[in-house]
Amino acid sequence: MSRFLDDIDARLADIRAEGLWKEERPLASPQGARVQVAGREVINLCANNYLGLADHPALKAAARDALEPMGFGMASVRFICGTAEIHRTLEARLAKWLGHDDAILFAACFDANGALFEPLLGPEDAVISDSLNHASIIDGIRLCKAQRYRFANSDMEDLEAKLKEARAAGARHIMIATDGVFSMDGYFAELGAIRALADKYEALVMVDDCHATGFIGATGAGTPERAGIRADVITGTLGKALGGAIGGYIAGPQAVIDLLRQRARPYLFSNALPPAICAAALVAIDMAEKGDDLRAQLTENTAYWRAGLAEAGFDLLPGEHPIVPVMLHEAPKAQAMAAKLGELGVYVSGFFYPVVPKGKARIRTQMNAALTKGDLDTALGAFREAGRAVGAIR
Ligand SMILES: *Cc1c(COP(=O)(O)O)cnc(C)c1O
Repeated sequence: MSRFLDDIDARLADIRAEGLWKEERPLASPQGARVQVAGREVINLCANNYLGLADHPALKAAARDALEPMGFGMASVRFICGTAEIHRTLEARLAKWLGHDDAILFAACFDANGALFEPLLGPEDAVISDSLNHASIIDGIRLCKAQRYRFANSDMEDLEAKLKEARAAGARHIMIATDGVFSMDGYFAELGAIRALADKYEALVMVDDCHATGFIGATGAGTPERAGIRADVITGTLGKALGGAIGGYIAGPQAVIDLLRQRARPYLFSNALPPAICAAALVAIDMAEKGDDLRAQLTENTAYWRAGLAEAGFDLLPGEHPIVPVMLHEAPKAQAMAAKLGELGVYVSGFFYPVVPKGKARIRTQMNAALTKGDLDTALGAFREAGRAVGAIR
């Protein structure tokens, strides 16, 4: 045991020495546009709280109102005695909104992605995955026996080459797996082109829409709605725009959802979502579906924030998603900038290798609908000051 712990200590020391140690900064307030951190109020620009629902009174009321009649926990997996009526209600609601036959809930989208591939694809099949896909997709694909191919991020020529390769190798079924939005860059997947290639090579399209559902597309139904295409299978989370608590789902054809209910291991061997979470999620979906005002506010905030940063002279990745990455390139500069912003009352996170490639260190800012113009002006002032201090702008 002591030799084992010594080895762990050495690895921990390495992580610190490489400057890759991740500190957690506990919030002393609910998640929101402004949060209490280390005894003071800061403007929060790094939450996935896109619609500002994480502390919304309507969601809290729905969760509270569900607790008494429905109880606290299910104490069972779904198929034994853990299915409440509200689970089926929420699954049907998600499916209807997203335009699929049915949906299946998981404890998190990490579990949904871990559950998806193994029951659906065998060794005769192929899965072709974007190189920047989320860790949970990568892990989910590792758990299945299908032949694996990877295409360079959003490179449609490479995707077509991999589709040809898989067809030439005699694949029975082919599934293309992609994030709807790549979260480090805020870039949208090329869903129109992906759908066209999938149709040409008779492949299925799976989209993980965690950074889109609720706020992208005319009714918030996500990147397929935005692109005007049909995805065969969608995975998503209740942990970002839809209230930010916990929970994930897969939506798709009835047969797919039916098989997942029979065979998906994170569904069969893990506890059911608490009813109060489901009740609040139903309200979040209603708000998101009817949320033209919230989406308009988010779009307006994003445009205002981008324009302000650009005018200040920052190097931004182009785009229109509420993820707005400010490029600092070198890791120490990103760290210094994040620290300086913290001192100035703006809460952001620096991203550097191995999360993004070397030389592409950045501060990833994220807009949400709860931020006011006043918040954004204050934050822009802090960005100008911090940017000058670290030499990112003049
Ligand atoms: C956040 C995220 C997940 C994980 O979702 P959880 O519900 O938090 O487990 C999966 N995929 C993508 C693309 C994400 O951004």
